[in-house]
Amino acid sequence: MNKPVLTIVVPCFNEEDVLLETSSQLSNLLKNIIDDALISKESNIIFVDDGSKDRTWDIIETECEKSPFVKGLKLAKNVGHQNALIAGLETAAKQSDCVISIDADLQDDINVIPSFIEKYWEGFDIVYGVRGSRETDTVFKRTTALGFYRFMGKIGIKLVPNHADFRLMSKRALEELFKYQETNLFLRGLVPLVGFKSTNVYYDRKERFAGESKYPLKKMLAFAFDGITSFSVAPIRLVTLIGFLSMVFSLIAGGYALTQELLGHTASGWTSMIISIWFVGGLQLMGIGIIGEYIGKIYQEVKRRPRYSIEKDLYSVLSKEQLQK
Ligand code: UDP
Ligand code: MG
Repeated sequence: MNKPVLTIVVPCFNEEDVLLETSSQLSNLLKNIIDDALISKESNIIFVDDGSKDRTWDIIETECEKSPFVKGLKLAKNVGHQNALIAGLETAAKQSDCVISIDADLQDDINVIPSFIEKYWEGFDIVYGVRGSRETDTVFKRTTALGFYRFMGKIGIKLVPNHADFRLMSKRALEELFKYQETNLFLRGLVPLVGFKSTNVYYDRKERFAGESKYPLKKMLAFAFDGITSFSVAPIRLVTLIGFLSMVFSLIAGGYALTQELLGHTASGWTSMIISIWFVGGLQLMGIGIIGEYIGKIYQEVKRRPRYSIEKDLYSVLSKEQLQK
């Protein structure tokens, strides 16, 4: 096998505080693995600027001039982590044999990247980076994450537990991934659907090097909910089940009330009436809400809007020049 060209894709949104450090650590690492003859000299890093409002793009441009390994892709506006990632992956896959995705904040241990590449040499198409310990995450984030993976498993969505978007994928696995054209991207759920031989590499997740998490609670919940409704109709089934059970319950209660009435015990039932009105009303609203969520998804999917637009591409341009040399 020829030495593979590796591209490391790093989505960045307002990461001016950590970017220089990330860039220098990744460049050093890349240099070392090139020296170890594990990957081709043409390997590189793409920083994808996801419509940052701070100096992120300026830093990327300067780094592009300074380091031979660094390339940049500027998106026309903020499209979110998952879309920024797919933008980087689609651009990288044109010229690389394998691609590693990693966050910009150095929370994922870049020192396991050589093991990713060893696994690639062993013939694995997908290598998942899995957090062995999450001690630096808050107890809240840890328990909600655990609950989320358990719940997803229960309703039949296959996820690699404790794996975020730190992974290696071969070109052919990526090309299969790109065939999934959905607008609501949840890569963690999609990648296992692609198939191919895959394996896990374990590491300890660290504190964010600098800057703040771009996933506050509200976004985290939205992401989890999206993950569920994009991959499973279990919630709709649950609503049907609850509706059915409450109907059975109300039939029994109705039968009881009727016999009481016939026996001459007038029901003083204002309380029970009002409770059941609220209960059933609530149930119906919840049901409509969940169904609405799916219809909203269908609406977004049928529009087939592009997932991202590229404003500047310092990757493809530079690489073409290099090829001419
Ligand atoms: N990110 C992005 N676009 C966004 C939000 C985040 O490209 O709209 C990037 C961010 O720069 C980082 C990665 O996605 O590289 C993960 O974000 P973050 O570290 O804030 O998430 P957490 O690790 O807290 O879940
Ligand atoms: Mg992070």
